[in-house]
Amino acid sequence: MGFVLWNIIQQKAARHNGRSFGTGGRIYQVINERKQVCIAMSSVKERFLRYVQVETTSCEANENCPSTLGQKVLGEMLATEMREMGIADARMDEDGYVYGSIPAKGAECAPAIGLIAHMDTSDAVPGATSPQVIPAYDGGVIRLKNGLEIAGFDFLPALKGQELIVTSGDSVLGADDKAGVAEIMTLCERMLEPDAPDHGRICVAFTPDEEIGRGADRFDIRGFGADFAYTVDGGALGELEFECFNAASCVVRVRGINIHPGSAKDQMINASLVAMEFAGMLPPWERPEHTEGYEGFYHLRGMSGDEETAELQYILRDHDRTKLEEKKAMMTAAGEMLNRRYGKGTVSVELKDSYRNMKEIVGQYPEVIERAKNAFTDNGVEPIVQPIRGGTDGALLSFRGLPCPNLSTGGYNFHGRKELIPVPAMEKMVGVLETLVRS
Ligand SMILES: [Zn+2]
Repeated sequence: MGFVLWNIIQQKAARHNGRSFGTGGRIYQVINERKQVCIAMSSVKERFLRYVQVETTSCEANENCPSTLGQKVLGEMLATEMREMGIADARMDEDGYVYGSIPAKGAECAPAIGLIAHMDTSDAVPGATSPQVIPAYDGGVIRLKNGLEIAGFDFLPALKGQELIVTSGDSVLGADDKAGVAEIMTLCERMLEPDAPDHGRICVAFTPDEEIGRGADRFDIRGFGADFAYTVDGGALGELEFECFNAASCVVRVRGINIHPGSAKDQMINASLVAMEFAGMLPPWERPEHTEGYEGFYHLRGMSGDEETAELQYILRDHDRTKLEEKKAMMTAAGEMLNRRYGKGTVSVELKDSYRNMKEIVGQYPEVIERAKNAFTDNGVEPIVQPIRGGTDGALLSFRGLPCPNLSTGGYNFHGRKELIPVPAMEKMVGVLETLVRS
């Protein structure tokens, strides 16, 4: 892409995000000048360091797709790099989804395997990343540039001696999921080399807005063309996930009766207090702060109210679909009980299903899971099979007909300023992906 177009997109992104890109302009300029050199033979680390410098924080309040223009900047960068490495059909569509494929080589009958990563980063902390490289971690406390310390995490001792990439302490790193993007891009480059192993068709996609739950919404499954796929969006090296929550949301609305407190006796129904009563009827041990593993929960996300009206916003989660249905029934029952106590129409309970446990679908394709397990073990990595206490794009794609478990990226502490990723883990993941797509 030429300088002028690059700068226009960057300025648009700056306006869209409502903040100045004062130093960002220089970064893009440097990226552009170095691009030809970098693309010639780019290691996964070099790619990662370039991608995280493009700010792609998604924005829930924006209905557009993608929700922020920075994602299109990265998308265009990726599509261009893909074409330059020889992926002829690489393209970004108007919604910011990037697609491309590598034709089968010596294994035309092998299944077409998809690899997917997302380009946006969480808005939990700022996204203008200045990554810092620690050439050889000494095993002690990591002091970030702004003084913030990384210490006390169980995984740290095992990383001693490794090259780590951390943040300056002022932003998210964006290994979630630009590590996945960099690993897939590096694999593509490898599979286009003359001595690449035989493989079936490899389909690649980079999606926008995963962090705000919209990554699968406009995904073109038919155009993607894979028989099954993997998202590369997990944490520690070896993570393999194909179970997620079943999810629903619930809004509880309370209508009270307000009367001057001086003459309220036997007349007032205080909506805020009825809402508190509702909250008190749910089992306190089934809250996120008291649950782990396969235990589901009721989570109060927000509340508002006065004497006349009150509202509670919940999310309900459970890996077991029957148990989620029980939780939904519990919400309805609590509302009915309060209506008997305070009168019909006092409490209304609105339930909405969000996503379902992908195990229902992926479980029907054990060979997809076995393939991933073998890819890890063949590369000397012990697979860590665990349920996700959340959802993924893969869950939605699975229910739309594309079985899609989730693989590790190698990173830690996602969505925070203490996010980090060891370079050897990213390099190992490129090897795992190569084994995965090999016929
Ligand atoms: Zn992610």
